[in-house]
This record gives sequence, structure tokens and C-alpha cells, in this order.
Amino acid sequence: MARIRAPLGIAALLILVLAVAAALLAPYVYPEVEYRLQGPTTQLLPKPTGEVSGRWYDDYFLVEQIDASTFAIGEPRYYQGNYSYLLLGTSRAVLFDAGTGTRDIVPVVRSLTTLPVTVIPSHLHYDHVGALGRFDRTALIDDPGLRARTHDGVLQLGRYEFLGFLDDLPAPSFRVDEWWKPDTTIDLGGRQVQVIATPGHTPTSVSLYDARNKEVFVGDFVYPGNLYVFLPGASRSAYLTTTRKLLRQLNLSTRVFCAHMAEPPAPVRAPMLTLDELQSLDQALVALDAGRIVADPNVEFQRLLKFPRVFVVNGDLRIATGFPWNDQ
Ligand SMILES: [Zn+2]
Repeated sequence: MARIRAPLGIAALLILVLAVAAALLAPYVYPEVEYRLQGPTTQLLPKPTGEVSGRWYDDYFLVEQIDASTFAIGEPRYYQGNYSYLLLGTSRAVLFDAGTGTRDIVPVVRSLTTLPVTVIPSHLHYDHVGALGRFDRTALIDDPGLRARTHDGVLQLGRYEFLGFLDDLPAPSFRVDEWWKPDTTIDLGGRQVQVIATPGHTPTSVSLYDARNKEVFVGDFVYPGNLYVFLPGASRSAYLTTTRKLLRQLNLSTRVFCAHMAEPPAPVRAPMLTLDELQSLDQALVALDAGRIVADPNVEFQRLLKFPRVFVVNGDLRIATGFPWNDQ
């Protein structure tokens, strides 16, 4: 009996070790497999022929003034339709998100202001950090984990933090000049912006709130499209906590400016939502976890693995999620 039991025990242990390893590595294996099979997306989209808001800086960047001292800088020909935001005070300017790096955003920003510019990314994914380190100063949210990884003032982004392998981009490093603490206020001269930690899409995502102008800039926390609540670092429970925090803190008539524009045939303009949509997101997240809403079978998302599932929140706003590791 002992001779039979020993191999069985080793086999069982091996299966257990493999199962644990598969569970731990699954969040990282998923993007490697899905996106590698799809291949990188490097082709620029044609210039939109329909209605656009703002004026073209060249044949790529679209500049839209959203109030007297704020510009949205769009990249509608990039396949993810990113928008960065330039907030002007009287003594300094902040660029919220650093462009995708597909084209150089620096001259666009310099054409709009002569003030010293501090750039801060909403989060560290590859489509938001294109020109980090190329303005007067670079700021990051003051996160202990990010600080601990900084050597001689320089931060090297990790593979699954940056995710640039999806488009064949190497993870960059850059100097961090300022660490902005959550819940503090940054004075731009005659204009104050509040730093709000908004984990959910990534653990170190940040938003900027201009209470006087009733504007919040949220990066990829929310936008009119499929919210990515499935990549490494995304968390549905963090999404719910952050949504509720924003609903508590923001003025009811705040305009919520996002980093990805709605897909065609929606008009090309700076993507903007309201607190009504955040309220709907709150309800949808609760219903999703309780199993009270089901995935929309008509929304085909990731092309090859047909996963994650997509849950409709409200109009264009949808949640893409469904892996066990998203429910954290
Ligand atoms: Zn993004």
C-alpha cells in the first residue's frame, strides 16, 4: 500500500501546486495570450470626416477649450481615442495625462501656455504616459509602493503596470519631481485642484477635482465605453468604494471629464459624463455582484477569448469584467 500511496501523494501535491500557480498567474497570462494573438495596433485611424468639437492642431491632435482656462487635447485617430487635459492657473499649469506617445504632445501644450507645466498621469498604463518626463516637472500620486520603487528619483514601470507589450512598447522609466498626496490641494495660482485617489481601474489611479469650476478629471475610472475592470490591478470592490467616495465628495452638477472618447458614430469631442452616470455605476456594481444583472450577449468584446463579459450600465457606459480575480 505504501508503495502506491507515495506516487499518488506526489501527484496530488503536484496538481495542487500547478492549480495554485495557475490561479496566481492567470491575471497575467490572460493579457499575454489575448493581445498577443490579436497583434499590436499601430495603424492610425483616418481623420474623422463627421462633426468634431474643437480645432485641429495638425492632422492628428484636436484641441477643445472646455472653459476659460482648461483645454482638452484629443487623439481621435489613435485607436483608443485618448484625451489629455491642460489646466491653467496664473502661475503654473497641469497636464493631466501625458498623451499616448503616438505623436509628440509637447508642442501642442507649448502652443497653449507659456506657464511651467507639471504633468501627472491618471494612471500608469501605456496610453497615458507618452510624454512623462518631458515637461518642466512630473508628478505622481503619493503612493507608498510607488515611492519605495523609486531609485535616485527615477521610477521604472513594470510590465503589467504599463501593459505596453500590447502595442510592442517597452516599459519606460522617468524622474518623479513631485509626489501629490491624496486629499491635498494643489495651487496653480488663482485655481485649486484637489488630488483624489481613485483606485478601481488600477490600484494607483488618481483624479483631479476643481470644485470651483465643478469639473473632475478621472482618467480611465469612468468613460463612455467598456470600462476595463479585468486587467491586472483592476478591482470591482475598489470600483464601488471609489464610486461612492466620488458621489459623496463631488458637487452634484460636476462635469466628469474622461480619458477615452465614445466610439463612432458618437460625435468626436472631449468625453464627459455626469454624476447621474456615477450613480448608475454604483447600482450596476451592486447588482452585478448580487447576480441581478447578466452580461449582454450582443456585446462581443475581446475578439479571441470572447471574455471578459460586458454588463451594460447606462447607454454607452458598460463594465467589462468577470474573471474571479476581478472581484477583489
Ligand atoms: Zn486608457
